[in-house]
Amino acid sequence: MKRIGIIIIGLFFLFACFGQQDSTTFNDTSDFIESSQKVKNIILMIGDGMGVTQIYAGITVNKSPLNIEKIKNIGFAKTYSASDYITDSGASGTAIATGHKTYNKAIGVDKDTVPVKSILEYAEDHGKATGLVATSYVTHATPASFISHQANRHDYEDIAADFLKTDIEVFIGGGLKHFNQRKDNLDMTEQLKENGYDVIMNRDSIPISNSDKIAGLIYKGHPPKYTKGRDEMLQICSLKAIETLNRNNNGFFLMIEASEIDWGGHDNDTEYIVDELLDFDRVVGKVLDFAEKDGNTLVIITADHETGGMGLNGGDIAKGKINAKYTTSDHSGVMVPVFAFGPGSDNFRGIYENTELFIKMMNAFGFSED
Ligand code: MG
Ligand code: ZN
Repeated sequence: MKRIGIIIIGLFFLFACFGQQDSTTFNDTSDFIESSQKVKNIILMIGDGMGVTQIYAGITVNKSPLNIEKIKNIGFAKTYSASDYITDSGASGTAIATGHKTYNKAIGVDKDTVPVKSILEYAEDHGKATGLVATSYVTHATPASFISHQANRHDYEDIAADFLKTDIEVFIGGGLKHFNQRKDNLDMTEQLKENGYDVIMNRDSIPISNSDKIAGLIYKGHPPKYTKGRDEMLQICSLKAIETLNRNNNGFFLMIEASEIDWGGHDNDTEYIVDELLDFDRVVGKVLDFAEKDGNTLVIITADHETGGMGLNGGDIAKGKINAKYTTSDHSGVMVPVFAFGPGSDNFRGIYENTELFIKMMNAFGFSED
């Protein structure tokens, strides 16, 4: 009997060991299996020109951890366009929005100028509410890539007209002049009102709107810098967009852009970059709070490209000081980070093309391409 007992105990250990081995193997394998859980909402946050250096500049100056540092699922996207090693925001916005590499200056069209459908348009077709919020013209390259189809990003008035061809629920930013001071003399704010939008032309009215459709054209041109009077505009408008879109039982797609990190990069202006980065990160914090409570929202934070070829040649952690240097006043060709939070966020690990972001968002929503 003793021997049988020892054999049984022996077998038990063997099974325990194999069991252990098995579960270890399974965990390793799971890294390579994309999770297939469908999400209700996607909030895509784009820091224009936000490379790893810009983020670390913000981390250093802030002296305490940024909200973005809470995120565990991190990847990198390759940003080159169909025409250039160094992309512009039109080609990279289009890549993220539609899954097509295209030429620099393109908006929502492929390399042969054929219109290609965006994740926002797919979301509309599937009964989701959609929105765009930016600290630039709403007609500027990044937001435009999600809603417009134009051969040239500088055809702002044509891009404005494209906003009237969709069922987008909320768009907030600058660029009022492209809607109401046009060469064709049309006042598109009147058409927006006819289409049921609460057309808001000053930022103080954004928080008090109860409309399900908001056209927030709150600056004639671009919004100013954070430190020159824009203040918490991005946060206020992003939270209003989330509140409004979240009334839809089918869920929503929202793109939020911190447009001016890029402009600080073009100016090689370190303070401008850091102020805009920290403003963006505070909005990231609010968005993560919403997503955490909601539990059915995927948040993706990335950039369309890096700007400035920014490097940190020195700094002081304790004093929150950096010594930044730049290799260009244009964009650079480096990969950009992708941070993902919420259900399905593990699918965003690794190194991939920026066009994969479109595919990953389509998969997260459970959509298939037309
Ligand atoms: Mg932009
Ligand atoms: Zn730029």
